[in-house]
Amino acid sequence: MLENYIIYLKFLENKLTKFFDKQKPYIRCQKGCGLCCQNAQFPYSKLEIDYLMTGAWQLDLETKKLVAQNINRVIQEKNNFKGKPDEFKYDCPFLINNVCSVYKYRGIICRTFGLMYMGEDNKAKIPFCCFKGYNYANVIQDGSGVISSEKVKALGDVEEPVAFNISYKFLTCEDFEQGFKIKFGEKKPLIDWFINNNEKQNLAR
Ligand code: SF4
Ligand code: SF4
Repeated sequence: MLENYIIYLKFLENKLTKFFDKQKPYIRCQKGCGLCCQNAQFPYSKLEIDYLMTGAWQLDLETKKLVAQNINRVIQEKNNFKGKPDEFKYDCPFLINNVCSVYKYRGIICRTFGLMYMGEDNKAKIPFCCFKGYNYANVIQDGSGVISSEKVKALGDVEEPVAFNISYKFLTCEDFEQGFKIKFGEKKPLIDWFINNNEKQNLAR
């Protein structure tokens, strides 16, 4: 199954690379940013977490220890969280010194961070980091999250910003499962895969 998933990831990566290229004038992503790996929920399917763990087991011992510490800290934070469990947000435990320690093995949601996308309500969504001065920040109306056509025009001969069909729901739908002979399986927040799972939780042992 993981072999077929790797083929699917290659297909997805090809698509996303083209999308990022098209949006180049608006993209500010760079190694060491890591903002999109913080304060979120990170949906992961069983298939994705299995693949992520194949990368995690290959980390050097020092990095494994740091990740394991992060996992245990986030689980503790979740246990102490007073709000609704499905509202709990956290920094991804695999983010070490603002860099993804399992980049090649990261999940689907991680691969789509940073692009404008179509929401389930069929409205275009701009990545949150536009409000921090990153992606699409050069073309939004001040503080509004709405694309300003005047600002786009002022950039000269560039492609318009496009909202792509890259929602997590779509990219993990049955059509892709059938097409690539994969099964995503259960989906839940990344950290939940480590709760009550000693093998995953004790990565460093
Ligand atoms: S797996 Fe990597 S890319 Fe994905 S949220 Fe965690 S640190 Fe970020
Ligand atoms: S998507 Fe935004 S927050 Fe994430 S790396 Fe790119 S610029 Fe930074």
